[in-house]
Amino acid sequence: MSASLNFSISADQEALVKAARRFGEQHLAPFYKQRESKGAFDRQTLCHMGELGLICIELPEHYGGLGLDCVTAGLVLEALCRSDYNIGQLMVTMSLAGAILSRHGQPEIVDRYLKGVVGERIIPAIALTEPGGGSDAANLRLRARRDGDTYILDGEKTSTSFATQAGFAVVWARTGPSGSGARGISAFLVPLDAAGITTSEFDDVGGRCAGRGSVHFEHVVLPTTHPIGVEGKGFVQVMQGFDYSRALIGLQCLAVARQSLDETWQSISQRESFGRPLSVNQGVTFPLAEAETQLEACRLLCLKTLWLKDQAQPHTAEAAMCKWWGPKLAFDIIQTCLLLHGHSAYTAELPYEQRLRDVLGLQIGDGTAQIMKIIIARHKVGPQSATT
Ligand SMILES: Cc1cc2nc3c(=O)[nH]c(=O)nc-3n(C[C@H](O)[C@H](O)[C@H](O)COP(=O)(O)OP(=O)(O)OC[C@H]3O[C@@H](n4cnc5c(N)ncnc54)[C@H](O)[C@@H]3O)c2cc1C
Repeated sequence: MSASLNFSISADQEALVKAARRFGEQHLAPFYKQRESKGAFDRQTLCHMGELGLICIELPEHYGGLGLDCVTAGLVLEALCRSDYNIGQLMVTMSLAGAILSRHGQPEIVDRYLKGVVGERIIPAIALTEPGGGSDAANLRLRARRDGDTYILDGEKTSTSFATQAGFAVVWARTGPSGSGARGISAFLVPLDAAGITTSEFDDVGGRCAGRGSVHFEHVVLPTTHPIGVEGKGFVQVMQGFDYSRALIGLQCLAVARQSLDETWQSISQRESFGRPLSVNQGVTFPLAEAETQLEACRLLCLKTLWLKDQAQPHTAEAAMCKWWGPKLAFDIIQTCLLLHGHSAYTAELPYEQRLRDVLGLQIGDGTAQIMKIIIARHKVGPQSATT
């Protein structure tokens, strides 16, 4: 009987991961702090990444991607995020928009935008959350009204990552009557330079490169080519893309924890107290050993989820597990690492405080832990377990 469970990565995957690590160490890590104060991701670095084939590698070659599998995309994302969490924010959004548009968009429209993401580094945005609340996402109010050969959009999206930097957004709007729930929602591709759109930016705690903010729609006219997927089915069809981004987000946050752990093992071997290296104390090494164990388990869960996606097998519950556990575990591990560095890590001189603020955001963004647990429970005991 041949073995079917295989944890090794191929030579090609290893080469890509190595290239990503090298790029991150040379071009991302030195500017992690600087990027935060700038509050935006520099296009030059994105162009450089694109030339190396490190952006949207899972997108079909037709759109400029490498047509690779989602596991490989996750490994590359992880390698880059060790150096800068922010690149993960961008890559996850690009991958999510890419997955949604390539699967459900109308080819003549999607072509231009997706090639723009890969070739011209156009940043996409995902606009689902509204001021009334993000968890009950099907209860949205932004309206898209059919008017002859057009749709007219009125309303507001909020908490949109890249609100002020993005060239276009995937926007969920109500096309059915109010109170029609998920069945009356459609998704649209909306160019953010369309007349009637204004954006504003929040003063965020972390992840400031993403410039999270609000998008206001006032009588925004869209051609009928811009709905994504079937009208009225936008919620169910297009939301499935989030199963992909949730596994990627797990890896994004864990990569930051991985980097922090590696640095901390090294620092406790060098720093001394009471005449001996810190590493001789089990009170110092045991929390790190526990972190190693949990990180390994959560990372494997994320990779398994991506593997399930590659096999076209159901992975909604697994993706929800990655999403609630990964960011929380990463936060806890980075906090442990900060404390084991002592006072020097409680300054902006070392990256731990920034890393903590960064990963904290993803305990909320893309769905909170409670909502993820509702999804997991619903898969176990059916809809009676959940309020969403
Ligand atoms: C860093 C970051 C990036 C983001 N990026 C985007 C983006 O690009 N696009 C976008 O559309 N949105 C984005 N968001 C918004 C995010 O998806 C929402 O914030 C999230 O879905 C929660 O919605 P809410 O903040 O309105 O909280 P609410 O829905 O108001 O919930 C408040 C609290 O109540 C809990 N809660 C709600 N309902 C239940 C329930 N039934 N059972 C138990 N607990 C419940 C929640 O878990 C939460 O703790 C981002 C948010 C952050 C922080």
